[in-house]
Parts: sequence; C-alpha cells; structure tokens
Amino acid sequence: MEKLQEHRQEMLRCNRCGYCQAACPIYDVLRREPMTARGRIQLLRAVTEGKLPLSETLSRLIYSCTDCQSCRVSCPGGVHTDEIFAVARQLLAESDYAPPPLTELEERVRSSHNISGEPPESRLLWAENLEARPQGLVGKESAEVVLFTGCVSALYPMVYGILQDLVEILQAAELDFTTLGGEEWCCGYPLLSAGLPVSELVTHNLEAIKSLRAKTLVTTCPSCYHMWEHNYAPDFVRVMHSTEFLAELVEAGRIPLRRLEMRVTYHDPCDLGRKSDVYDAPRRIIQAIPGIELVEMEDNRANALCCGGGGNLESLDPELSRAVASRRLEQARSVGAEAVISACQQCERTLSMAARREKIRIRVMDVVQLLRMALLKEHSQE
Ligand code: SF4
Ligand code: SF4
Repeated sequence: MEKLQEHRQEMLRCNRCGYCQAACPIYDVLRREPMTARGRIQLLRAVTEGKLPLSETLSRLIYSCTDCQSCRVSCPGGVHTDEIFAVARQLLAESDYAPPPLTELEERVRSSHNISGEPPESRLLWAENLEARPQGLVGKESAEVVLFTGCVSALYPMVYGILQDLVEILQAAELDFTTLGGEEWCCGYPLLSAGLPVSELVTHNLEAIKSLRAKTLVTTCPSCYHMWEHNYAPDFVRVMHSTEFLAELVEAGRIPLRRLEMRVTYHDPCDLGRKSDVYDAPRRIIQAIPGIELVEMEDNRANALCCGGGGNLESLDPELSRAVASRRLEQARSVGAEAVISACQQCERTLSMAARREKIRIRVMDVVQLLRMALLKEHSQE
C-alpha cells in the first residue's frame, strides 16, 4: 500500500479530461468507464484514501488491461499511468486477490523457467525441422551473436517459423551465432507485468549470456527486448531487437533480396513501439524489399491499436483479448492489405487466430518471415 501511496501525487495529476478513453482498446470493447485509465485512477485513489478495499472485483478490473500504454501516450498531462498501474498490480499480486491464472503462471515459470511449464530441452524443439540445422546452435563456448529465443517463439509451434526463418537468414549472411538452449530462462516480463518479482531470472540470464562473450544479443520478442534493454541493461553486450539487427544487415547488403509483389501493412507491437520506441527498423526492412507496397493503418506508430495479446490478458480473459484482436485486424483489412506484418510472436498469434475466427483472408506474419520470403533464390527454397 505504501508504494501506491507514493504514487498518489501522480494520480492527483489526472484532471479527468478523458483523452485516455478514446485510446483504450479495453474501453473500446466494453464501453465501461472504470476500464479507462481515468476510471482506474479514480478507483485507485479511493484505495489510497481508505474508501475502497482491495477485492476480487477490483483485481479483475485492474488486470483487464493489455498494458499497452496507449493511455500514457495519449494523456496531454503526461500522467504516468503505466507506473500507477504497475504498482497497483504489485499490490494485488501480493494480496489475496491475485488472479489464479497468474499464480499458476508464476508457479510454472519458477519451476520450469518458462511460461508453458515444459522441460528445458524443449527450448530447441523449433529447430528440429530446419532444412539445415546450423552447427553450434547450442553448446558453443562463444559466438559473435547470441539469440535469446523467448518463451513464446521457442515453445509455441504456431510461431516456430519466426526463429526458423531468422536462423536461415543468419546462415545466408554467414554469421557466427548460437543460443543458450535449455539454459535460457524466461526473461521475466510476464511476471514483472503481473506485478511479481523477477530477480532470480534476471541474475541467471545475465550470467548465462555473459559467459558466451557475445558482442550482440538478438531477440525476435519485443517483451524480451524491452526487458533486456530497460531492466537488465547489460554493459557487456549490445541488445538488439531482430528488426534492428536485420535492418542493419539489409542496409549493409548482406541479405540479397528478390522481388515480392505484395501490399502489406505493419502492426506496431506495443512493447516494441510505444514502450521501446522502435518504429523505423521494421519499416526500413519492409521498404527495402523490392515490389512491396507498405500501407499504414489508421492507428499506427505511437497510436497503434493493441493486438489484445499484452498484459497477460489472453490467459486472464481470452474473450476480451480476442475482441481487441478482431478490431485491430479489421483495421488491417480496411486498408486492403494482403498481409499484416508484425514484429512480435504474440501479435502474430493473436492476429492469426482472429483472422481464422473472423474468416478474413489476410496473411499474418513477422518481419523476419517476410524477409525470409524475399531471400534470393540461391539462399531460398522458393
Ligand atoms: S488523459 Fe490523462 S489526465 Fe486525462 S483523464 Fe486520462 S489519465 Fe487523466
Ligand atoms: S494500458 Fe492500454 S488497456 Fe490498459 S488502461 Fe491504458 S489504454 Fe487501456
């Protein structure tokens, strides 16, 4: 409670103008004032004043949020809604009202070191059916580049293709790379965003990466990237999201490209765009591919609509998460795109599932997969 009290001044800065309402994907679906940042702040103020006790209802409401931070960027007064809500989630996570799916998630991560509770050796299952599995994908003493695979990319078959295509591109560019294999632990982001402690995970991953003496850490996951860049902040390795890394390779002429005739749109993942300020690198890659036409959706860059997959919402309220995803997909469809390109395996999952559900004919893929499609014939199977 003390921490929430410390944020009381920040809450008092909210003048109830309502700009955050128009930006909130949850309000957009549910049309309920308590779901807006303004509404949540009023409730949390009442908690700090002792007028409202913590409860299951409050917990459900606070966690019904994709942590997309649209409210933060749309607030004219610059209220740090992200910090207020993070502290509220910490308070609830420590209370009797922690949502059961988050308690189960925590148990899985603490015991198996990944979000799905699988054994550590499953971390490399995605590499099983690579055309040519590179030597030293695991077990190397050192490498120039280390891939931090992330739990979703490495453990959810639906998105194995992102890491598989990344590896094929790195092979084509003749790079020296490796992974931590089963020694990679969850980066901690899902726990941190639920309000739970992550120091054990951070310490382990920092030590494991340091021992590889790599120059660059590359991850396709915006959440892992955000954790490494902002929370781990190592001084011994350069942290790059795959889009930043690949944009440099493309611009250095190390990835020979063929023509792809396609009209595509780009969906900015919240953790990569609004939270990490990476907007240009993915667009630079897309625009470097000859024949590609990039069209922007109505809400893009800092104003991009969330895909519904953030903030653990998918496990807490799958229906709400799906409704948000459908709205984003509709924006992609309305600009006549043949494909919606993202740079996040979670966005790819939520948007693909929405396309299937809504029977919308649109491809959903990662920038890495688009780039792999464009690899010149001699490097490609196409
Ligand atoms: S936009 Fe900012 S100041 Fe306005 S109601 Fe929302 S949080 Fe409060
Ligand atoms: S973080 Fe996103 S979902 Fe949560 S209150 Fe703010 S705008 Fe709404």
